Amino acid sequence: MVWSDAQANGTVSLDVLVKRPGAAEATRRRLLEAGAAVEVAADDLQRAIDEENPPMSDEDLDELMGRNGHRMEWQSYHRLADIHQFLDFLAATYPQRFSVQTIGSSVQGRPLKVVRVSSGKPGAPAIWVDGGIHAREWISPASVTYFLNTLVEQPEALGAAGSSVDWFVLPVVNPDGYEFSHSSDRLWRKNRGGSGSGRCAGVDLNRNFGYRWGGQGASRRPCDETYAGPSKFSEPETSAIRNFVSANRNIKAYVSFHSYGQYVLYPWGYAAVVPPDHEELKRVGQRIASAIARGGGGSYTVGPAGATLYPASGGSDDWAKGSQGIKYAYTVELRDRGRHGFVLPAQYIVPTGRDAVAALAVVAEAVTKL
Ligand SMILES: [Zn+2]
Repeated sequence: MVWSDAQANGTVSLDVLVKRPGAAEATRRRLLEAGAAVEVAADDLQRAIDEENPPMSDEDLDELMGRNGHRMEWQSYHRLADIHQFLDFLAATYPQRFSVQTIGSSVQGRPLKVVRVSSGKPGAPAIWVDGGIHAREWISPASVTYFLNTLVEQPEALGAAGSSVDWFVLPVVNPDGYEFSHSSDRLWRKNRGGSGSGRCAGVDLNRNFGYRWGGQGASRRPCDETYAGPSKFSEPETSAIRNFVSANRNIKAYVSFHSYGQYVLYPWGYAAVVPPDHEELKRVGQRIASAIARGGGGSYTVGPAGATLYPASGGSDDWAKGSQGIKYAYTVELRDRGRHGFVLPAQYIVPTGRDAVAALAVVAEAVTKL
């Protein structure tokens, strides 16, 4: 199973998961014989999964609930129920500023909960933020909820612009897949729709958006990880986002958080080409990367998605830019660069959440200058 691939400076690098026990050494030898440079990132992925997210005791969770009014914290990865409870807590506790709207339901009927964070200024520009479109990228919902908590506890981290824009935040785009990745298959990516079963179940929601749907880097085969679905916006998760975003014309930026690889990507994704204002997208992208680095977050690579990673059509950022005319569309691939990959230990949630906050502060500043 190939986890990620990237092309840079004429070289191609691949992260590969060897699933069959005992087959890793033979795979390594064959790659070496073929002239590749090989590095073993994790020699026992199951152990890494087992150690990634030490479970909290019921007593600890009760204690959190009593102290904070919700069970969310950022030392471990939480199930969907805790995340949703946290969103409802924000709306109940700070009703002037936070409200929660269910914009639709997943294939299996779970609510798609968007938090609206209001600046209190009529006509303010708005920023869409989402996470968790790919189930296994747990650091994404964790970082997006960390950002929401920062708006409450440390709003100055978002800069002056952070409180003069409205935010629409959907921390878990793919709640069915997210729960499945907790309960059944840690490395599940797609949603739980589609017509197949087993690994052939599900649609890759980030290939299901309606701009250049079904082109390069999107599969027509249900069993593939990048299955684009039977038609554009066939899935309730993507069509709910389409309906909501297209009805909110003040949205001037669209930021989707994924993992991993540490990239700040902008359109186009469907091919190795760029939109007319790509210099501006690059300039803001580089300011995002500098802000992350200044905060101690290490280095993020900035570039147009199709040329920097690989062409992938039907992505949310291309749709935001190409169909909705939203100027600042970014896909941020959070930590790490591949040592842990999707199975990022929970101690990295806070530092990675800070990366997300630094990125969003820069985007807020950019939209207030439009
Ligand atoms: Zn992803």
